[in-house]
Amino acid sequence: PGDTALLRVDGLDVTYGRAVRAVRSVSVEVARAGIVAVLGANGAGKTSLLRAVSGTLPLHGGTVDGGRITVDGAPLTGRDPAAAVRAGVVQVPEGRRVFAGLSVAENLRAGTLGLRGPGRSARISASLDRVLALFPVLAERRGQRAGLLSGGEQQMLALGRALMAEPRLLLLDEPSLGLAPRMVALIAEVITEIHRQGVGVLLVEQNAATALRLADHAYVLDVGRVRLAGSAERLAATDEVRRLYLGEA
Ligand code: ATP
Repeated sequence: PGDTALLRVDGLDVTYGRAVRAVRSVSVEVARAGIVAVLGANGAGKTSLLRAVSGTLPLHGGTVDGGRITVDGAPLTGRDPAAAVRAGVVQVPEGRRVFAGLSVAENLRAGTLGLRGPGRSARISASLDRVLALFPVLAERRGQRAGLLSGGEQQMLALGRALMAEPRLLLLDEPSLGLAPRMVALIAEVITEIHRQGVGVLLVEQNAATALRLADHAYVLDVGRVRLAGSAERLAATDEVRRLYLGEA
């Protein structure tokens, strides 16, 4: 009640096995329809944070062993991807995780497998229209095998597939990794448009410049802990972020 946060992560601890404490007492918030960036070096715990929220940690041998995750005030256990999807939380994993042997259209349809409730088929066709309008290249190539798409196009397909699941909160893991600057700019435009349509975004990026331009708030993780947090504008102006993450002198 009175809580306006879409996602609230409170004091989260994530471990792999006995020894690796990947996330330590991390608290992160995404306001309704906010875009929040999580920055940090390799191994800082960014991906583990996303996996905890999307319930996919067990698939990677990790566990949530402390803290609380709520979506719109309702607790998420962090242990079950299906429950996360039902709560409107959908993760786009790092890399080109599309079904290479399936067509573009079949990949998009795969995003709807968890959907339930009234008007399912009408909702799916409305989502398909929206996604194809957002990504004209996917519309042109909807009959082609996904494995034939370029890296950037596969990233768009992965994003499109996530949108087919009617997310309220989209978790994006390094969407610009390994893409040419023109593709990075295009992905950034799409993220802005998704946000404009009312979807909250939690964006993990090593490309700090792009992420800070898109985001309203940002967090810097360092060896599993929140080191800095604040408005994206304020963080982009700090010496530490400029030096370590924006590559400025
Ligand atoms: P990167 O950008 O390299 O993916 P990251 O900030 O996303 O880094 P994580 O991938 O969350 O960081 O990793 C945090 C810590 O957890 C690291 O020490 C990493 O080695 C460890 N880790 C990540 N995944 C696993 C796993 N499946 N099993 C064991 N340890 C893991």
